[in-house]
Amino acid sequence: MKIDTIRHSLAHILAYAVQELYPGTKFGIGPIIENGFYYDFDLPKPITFQDLPKIEQKMRKIIKENLKFEKKETSIKKAKEIFKNQPYKIELIADLFENGSQRVSIYQSGDFIDLCKGPHVKSTKEILTNEFCLTKIAGAYWKGNENNPMLTRIYGIAFRTKKELDKYLYLEKEAEKRDHRILGQKLELFMFDEEVGSGLPLWLPKGAILHNIIENYLYKELRKQGYSWVISPHIAKLLLWQTSGHWELYRENMYSPIKIDKESYLLKPMSCPFHVKIYNSKIRSYKDLPIRLAEFGTVYRYEKSGVLHGLTRVRGFTQDDAHIWCTPEQLSKELEKILKQGIQILKTFGFKDYNIYLSTRPEKYAGSQKKWEKAENTLKYILKKLKLKYQIDPGGGVFYGPKIDIKIKDSLGREWQCTTIQLDFNLPERFNMVYIDKSGKKKQPILIHRALLGSIERFIGVLLEHYAGALPLWLGPEQIWVVPVGSSHREYAHEVNEQLTTNKFRTVVKDENETVSKKIREGEIQKIPYLLVVGDKEIKNKTVRVRSKNKDLGMIKLNKFLEKIKIETEKKRE
Ligand SMILES: [Zn+2]
Ligand SMILES: [Zn+2]
Repeated sequence: MKIDTIRHSLAHILAYAVQELYPGTKFGIGPIIENGFYYDFDLPKPITFQDLPKIEQKMRKIIKENLKFEKKETSIKKAKEIFKNQPYKIELIADLFENGSQRVSIYQSGDFIDLCKGPHVKSTKEILTNEFCLTKIAGAYWKGNENNPMLTRIYGIAFRTKKELDKYLYLEKEAEKRDHRILGQKLELFMFDEEVGSGLPLWLPKGAILHNIIENYLYKELRKQGYSWVISPHIAKLLLWQTSGHWELYRENMYSPIKIDKESYLLKPMSCPFHVKIYNSKIRSYKDLPIRLAEFGTVYRYEKSGVLHGLTRVRGFTQDDAHIWCTPEQLSKELEKILKQGIQILKTFGFKDYNIYLSTRPEKYAGSQKKWEKAENTLKYILKKLKLKYQIDPGGGVFYGPKIDIKIKDSLGREWQCTTIQLDFNLPERFNMVYIDKSGKKKQPILIHRALLGSIERFIGVLLEHYAGALPLWLGPEQIWVVPVGSSHREYAHEVNEQLTTNKFRTVVKDENETVSKKIREGEIQKIPYLLVVGDKEIKNKTVRVRSKNKDLGMIKLNKFLEKIKIETEKKRE
C-alpha cells in the first residue's frame, strides 16, 4: 500500500468527519499533497484552528469502525442525481463530461460518497498502522480563481511511523523559527510598507550592508574571471521589448506601459536587451570573444499578490546578472567555467548540498527545434564532463533556450532555486548580433545568460533561514559588540573598538546605561557573531572576554583575538 493511497483515503475520512459534524457542508476537492492531504469545504458556519482536534477525533473514530471503501462506476446522469445537493461536485461532473467522459467513478465509505478515481485502501483498517494529524486551516478559492467562492481548506499530514511524523513536525517548527520575514524584522534588515506596495522590499541600514557585502564579494570574484561591469536603466521603450520578444512571450510578467511624450516605456523584467545593445555598439572580432558583461540589475516582474512571500517571492529584486557571448568552439569551456565558479561561490556561502536540473524546450518557444536540440546536448555534455549529477525537467526551459538550474539545499533540507545558466540562440538573431571570424566573415555569436545567486533578495532570505539569522562573521552587518562592564571601562572599550575598526571590522561600542546582562541578551537576540565584555581584569591584562553563539569563550589577549577573526573573515568561515 502506497503512503499516498493512505493520505488520499484520509482526505475522504476527513470529509466524512466534517459531514457528520457539520451537516449541510458542500464539498470541494480533496487531493494529496507533499507529505499529506487537504480537503476544501463550503461550511454552513465558519470554523477555526480550535475545531481541528474535534474533527481529528471524529476521524479516528471513523477509522476504528473498519469501514470499506467501495468503488462504483456510474453514468453521468446517475452521478448528477447522487450529488444533486453538492454544487461543486456537479460542476466537476460537468467538467468530466465536457472532457469526453461518459461514466464516472465514485467511492463510498459509510455514509460518505465522493466523486473519485481512486485508488483507495480497501478498508480503514489499513490506515490504523499509520500516523496522521490535522495541521492547519486556511481559505482557498474554488478552483484557485479569486472570482469564485472562498472555501475552507483543512490540511493534514500522514506518515508510516510516529518517528517520521515527529520529524516532519520538528522541521516545520524549525522552519517557523527561521522564517526570514520575522528574522528580517528582528535583526532590522528590511521592511515592507503597504503604501510602497506589496513585494517591494525596503532595505534598512543593516540590511543594506549585507546586500553590499554580497555584491562586493561577487564583483571581486567576477572581475577575476574576466567579467566587465555595465549599468543599465530601469525602463526602456516598448519597441526594445518588441524586438527582444519579451512583449510577445513574457508580457504577463511585465508591468503595463508608461506613456511619456507619446512614447511607451516598460519597466525592465530582465537586463538582457541592454547588454545586447552594449555588445552591438562596436564591431566585435573573434579575438574579442568571449565577452562577459555583468550587472547587478534591479528588475520588476509582476507576481500575483497571493504568491508574494517575504524576500523569496517579490515584485522588485536585484539579479546578479551577466551575459556572455562566445564562439561555438568556446561554448563548452565557458559553460564549464560558469558552473565551476557558481558551485564554488555557493559553497563559500555555506551551501554544500544542491540538486542540478536541466530544463528542456517548453510549449511556447522561440528559435528552431534543431537549435534547441543542439543547445540541450551541449549542456548535457558539460554536466557529464564535470561528473555532476542532474535531473531533467522536461519542458521547464525559458522561451528563448534550455537551461541548467542549481537548487541549493538549506540546513533543513529544503530546496531553493539559485544559479541559472541559460543558452540563448534567439536574441542574437533578433538583434542581428555578429562577430567577424578568422576569415573575415560575419558570424552569429552564442549567448549565455547566467545568474549565480539569482535574486540577491531571495538569496538573503535563504541565507537567513539557513543560518537561522546567525550569519557567518564575514557576512554580519554588525560583527562585534564591545560591552564595557561599567562607566570606568568605557575608555578601554573605545580603545578596543578603535583597534577593531582600524582592522576593518564592523563594530559597535555598547556604552549606554544598561546592565551588562541586558546588553548581552540583546546581542544574542540580534545574533551578533562576537560580544566582547571588558572590565577591570581585561584592562589590566589587555584582554577581552569573548562570547559567541551564546557561549562564553573566556578571556583572550586582544591581539590574539584579532588574529583569530582576521583568519575567520579571510577564509569566510561559517
Ligand atoms: Zn478519492
Ligand atoms: Zn539575460
